[in-house]
Amino acid sequence: MLIVMNPKATAQQVDEVVKFIEHKGFQTHISRGDVHTVIGAVGDKTIDMRDVEIMDGVDNIIKISTSYKLASRTFKPDDTVVDVKGVKFGGGYCGMIAGPCTIESYEQMDETAKVLAQTGVRVLRGGAFKPRTSPYSFQGLGEEGLKIIREVADKYNMVVASEVMEISQIDLFVKYADILQVGARNMQNFNLLRELSYVKKPIILKRGLSSTIDEWLMSAEYLLSDGNGDVILCERGIRTFERATRNTLDISAIPVVQKLSHLPIIVDPSHGTGLRDKVLPMSRAAAAAGADGIMVEVHHSPSNALCDGPQSLYPQDYDKLFNDIKVMLPLVGKQIN
Ligand code: PEP
Ligand code: MN
Repeated sequence: MLIVMNPKATAQQVDEVVKFIEHKGFQTHISRGDVHTVIGAVGDKTIDMRDVEIMDGVDNIIKISTSYKLASRTFKPDDTVVDVKGVKFGGGYCGMIAGPCTIESYEQMDETAKVLAQTGVRVLRGGAFKPRTSPYSFQGLGEEGLKIIREVADKYNMVVASEVMEISQIDLFVKYADILQVGARNMQNFNLLRELSYVKKPIILKRGLSSTIDEWLMSAEYLLSDGNGDVILCERGIRTFERATRNTLDISAIPVVQKLSHLPIIVDPSHGTGLRDKVLPMSRAAAAAGADGIMVEVHHSPSNALCDGPQSLYPQDYDKLFNDIKVMLPLVGKQIN
């Protein structure tokens, strides 16, 4: 339930409503916009809405049939802009993230990051714990990998994005990473999402391999439920009958999500297509559709990559992508910060 307060409602009237709702067993979250203050009431309790409707300062009440409230645009009409040490995602900003699929060695990260930093990328990605389909594939360097990406990112004044796979790893990620990524396979690991909702760092939530947009936003709701407001959604392709590409990149998810939610949505055309030559056109498509960020896999020597080489760009290809996107963004009212 969302309680929309009158533009002239006083702070005391907002307080009274919050007290009343909490007394009835709901959790409340307040969104203060330029004109309206909106109180979100979350909980499975029942209430006679007329009791709230007649309170001073209340304009109207919106009953939400979807299970997500905090993630909804009704709750927060203005775009959320996630700011990671000056790199912005959402609103008028498109954040650029690049780096290899997995951290392999200091030399590999250094070679790649050096070129990316020259291009202008400020967020360095790389997996330390890899969710591999086969248990026999390279599983990542673990904490050693996190130390490497941190050191290299600091050297080039970049911030670190890396995937956390389970609850026991959270402390390590809080220590070494600036953005924690929840991978497609963990999108509905609700225990992990709940624990991450206490973490005060931005989180990238990837769309599950076969998840609907509603399910995805409900997972975002878990992350928002305990105060972490810095959630970035990431469309990374969904499983369809089409086998010409690794996944089917759902570009339409961008405007759909932007209508339903205030959260920024970025696009990962690397996992979305699985093919290097499709990454540039689909990045352009994402930017044209209004994406709030683009995350791409880049490797200094893709043919030697331990993971996802065929979808990784050469650093010089990425340079073209970055510059094309920079030229396109003003057409959709955005810029790279
Ligand atoms: C990744 O970004 O490294 C990754 C494993 O992606 P996804 O979870 O989308 O498969
Ligand atoms: Mn990958």
